[in-house]
Amino acid sequence: MRRLRRIKILATLGPASSDSAMIRKLFEAGADMFRINMSHTSHDKMRELVETIRNVESNYGRPIGILVDLQGPKLRLGSFAEGAVQLHNGEAFVLDSDKTPGDKSRVYLPHPEILKALRPGHALLLDDGKVRLIAEETSPDRAVTRVVVGGRMSDRKGVSLPDTDLPVSAMTAKDRADLEAALATGIDWIALSFVQRGDDVAEAKKLVRGRASIMSKIEKPQAIDRLAEILEESDALMVARGDLGVELPLERVPALQKQMTRMARRAGKPVVIATQMLESMISSPVPTRAEVSDVATAVYEGADAIMLSAESAAGKFPIEAVSTMNRIGEEVERDPTFRSVIHAQRPEPEQTVGDAIADAARQIAETLDLSAIICWTSSGSTAMRVARERPKSPIVAITPNMRAGRKLSVVWGVHCVVADDALDQDDMVQRANRIAFRDGFARAGQRVIVVAGVPLGTPGATNMLRIANVGSDSDADF
Ligand code: PEP
Repeated sequence: MRRLRRIKILATLGPASSDSAMIRKLFEAGADMFRINMSHTSHDKMRELVETIRNVESNYGRPIGILVDLQGPKLRLGSFAEGAVQLHNGEAFVLDSDKTPGDKSRVYLPHPEILKALRPGHALLLDDGKVRLIAEETSPDRAVTRVVVGGRMSDRKGVSLPDTDLPVSAMTAKDRADLEAALATGIDWIALSFVQRGDDVAEAKKLVRGRASIMSKIEKPQAIDRLAEILEESDALMVARGDLGVELPLERVPALQKQMTRMARRAGKPVVIATQMLESMISSPVPTRAEVSDVATAVYEGADAIMLSAESAAGKFPIEAVSTMNRIGEEVERDPTFRSVIHAQRPEPEQTVGDAIADAARQIAETLDLSAIICWTSSGSTAMRVARERPKSPIVAITPNMRAGRKLSVVWGVHCVVADDALDQDDMVQRANRIAFRDGFARAGQRVIVVAGVPLGTPGATNMLRIANVGSDSDADF
């Protein structure tokens, strides 16, 4: 099965999409990687989903990535004696360390670290920003705030602190338990929520110990200020527009999306655009014009992947949402202006042998109008450096390593094939030709370019480039 677009699609699984038939249909409709959100999934359910995805993967013979998204330190209020209260503009409202149920003048805040870190003038956003408070007096066990935007407030609503640098790790005890359970199933990517600094990622890396790749979700203003160090530590970024749009003015999100996409592209690390991409499709079989335009913008920016959340996890039209993204991706990438936009944003190659070869492969493929760039890769890094070039020709990654194949399922433009390692350079070229022919990337008589690191099996040693003719015998067994 071959996709006709370069951008990848990530579909979140949930009650609307957890059985085998639905996961198969989502894959057929275009989902390249599945996300399991640990905010709403038990360990048993997560294991069941992983097993189902792996069965679909072996039925189709194509690597499918699995991303497990950890909840992170989601902060919440305590509860109210009456279940809910109405907060009015201009009134005082206290958050404190008293565990007794709250009323319209106060509520328990079960996070002593927030009370310690809050300072007068800091904002507190409750219930996804629907209610806004400003701290006026703070102490380690009590904060007196003023209601700036009032509204109804009920038990255990979320609290966001856009101005406060919280001395909390991005991993809670629940995250650590979820992480171990997920790694034991052999998943491919871990998403870290509410990352604030590079050290948060470094801490997670120590626990992961190379068993999965790490995607940092950028959803806090503190993370924006330290994007370079977070990107340096991470394997990928997710532009988590949901919480980002709560903690920052919404009008700042589009520019930040562009900046993060360019930064990740420059680093050659995958970037995923997430949240509310086709929100209306939770209840409607067709999206709004604005949503189509939003998805198209991510495609034009050259993002690696676009993500569905509630649309595929809990909506009425999960398959339609995936196929809508698929169609938008295909259509935008056919637009003649797409190539010029992508070309204009291409970062310079870094001064490494791998980047020089990747850049040369793209240029040669363009000059000679070659059918595909074929990368032999053991860790996936050769294919990722070629993808960084955003070439016009499709990228086919051949790897003996299933884990590398699954990891690459989120990377722009990479069609991954898991196959035995080649015996020598001639075998490598012959098998590259056959795979390109079999998977519909080249016809007999066309040419491809083969990129690899020799000796084979040395990760990160990209140093070889060869142009090959796809022969009429390329459909032979291999
Ligand atoms: C987001 O906030 O945009 C996001 C992807 O995170 P979650 O869905 O876990 O809230």
